Amino acid sequence: MTKPLLIADGLTKRYGAVTACDKVSFSLDEGEVLAIVGESGSGKSTLLNMLACRLAPDMGEVRYRMRDAETRNLAGLSEAERRLLMRTDWGFVHQDAAQGLRMNVSAGGNIGERLMAVGGRNYGGIRQAAADWLSRVEIDTARMDHKPTTYSGGMRQRLQIARNLVTSPRLVFMDEPTGGLDVSVQARLLDLIRGLVADMGLAVVLVTHDLAVARLLSHRILVMKNGHVIETGLTDRVLDDPQAPYTQLLVSSVLAA
Ligand code: ADP
Ligand code: MG
Repeated sequence: MTKPLLIADGLTKRYGAVTACDKVSFSLDEGEVLAIVGESGSGKSTLLNMLACRLAPDMGEVRYRMRDAETRNLAGLSEAERRLLMRTDWGFVHQDAAQGLRMNVSAGGNIGERLMAVGGRNYGGIRQAAADWLSRVEIDTARMDHKPTTYSGGMRQRLQIARNLVTSPRLVFMDEPTGGLDVSVQARLLDLIRGLVADMGLAVVLVTHDLAVARLLSHRILVMKNGHVIETGLTDRVLDDPQAPYTQLLVSSVLAA
C-alpha cells in the first residue's frame, strides 16, 4: 500500500473563546476527493487553511508526501520549500475568484504567470499552454488577452481552475468553488471540475456546505460541527445512511445553509 498523500494530525485552532477546529485528524490518499461539509461557522475554512499551509495551527501538524516520496511535517519546511509546494504540487481555488486571480492581469497572463513561477521561459510555449488551458476550461481563446474583470462569475471560476491546474499539481484545495453562482452555472462548473479531477487523477480537499456538491465530486466526507468531526465515511454511505444525529439533520436539509 502506498502511504497517504496528506495526513492531518490533531489540528486545533482557537480564536479567543471559540475553538474553530478541535483535534481534527484524517488522512488523504493520492487521487482521493474528500469533502468537508457542515453548516456555516463549523470550522471548514479554518481546517482547509491549516491543511494548505495558509494558517498555522495552535496544536497538531500536517504531514505531506513530497514528490521525492519523503513525508514531511509542513511546519518544518523552509519558506522557499513551502512556496515551491504551493506553486507546483498544490492548487487553491477560492470561492471568491478575486482572491485567486490577478484581476488586472489578462487571462493568459494569469495562467502564464504560474508557468513562469516554475521556470517557464519560452514565451510562445507559455502562450500556447495558456490557450490550451483556456479551451480546456471552455473559455474562448479570443478572450485570452482580456482581464478577468470583464469575465462573468462562472468564467472567472473556470479561469481560476485553469491557473491552478496548468502546473499539473497533485493536490488541490477548494473552498466553496461553486458558491455564489447561479444554479445552471454551478452545474456546468461541477461537471467541468469532475472531469478534470478524474482525467488528472487529482487529490482534492473540497469545502462545501452543499451536500449535492459533495455527492457529485467526493469519494469521502468529513462532517464538521463546532470545530469537531462528527462523522466520516464514504460519501454514499454518509449521505444515504447517516449515523450521527447531526448528520441526519444535515441530510434532511434542516440545517442546510
Ligand atoms: P466555516 O468555513 O465552516 O463557515 P470558519 O472556519 O470560517 O467556518 O469559522 C469557524 C469559527 O471560527 C467561526 O465561529 C468563526 O467565527 C471563527 N473564526 C474564523 N476565522 C476567524 C478569525 N480570523 N478571527 C476570529 N474568529 C474566526
Ligand atoms: Mg468557510
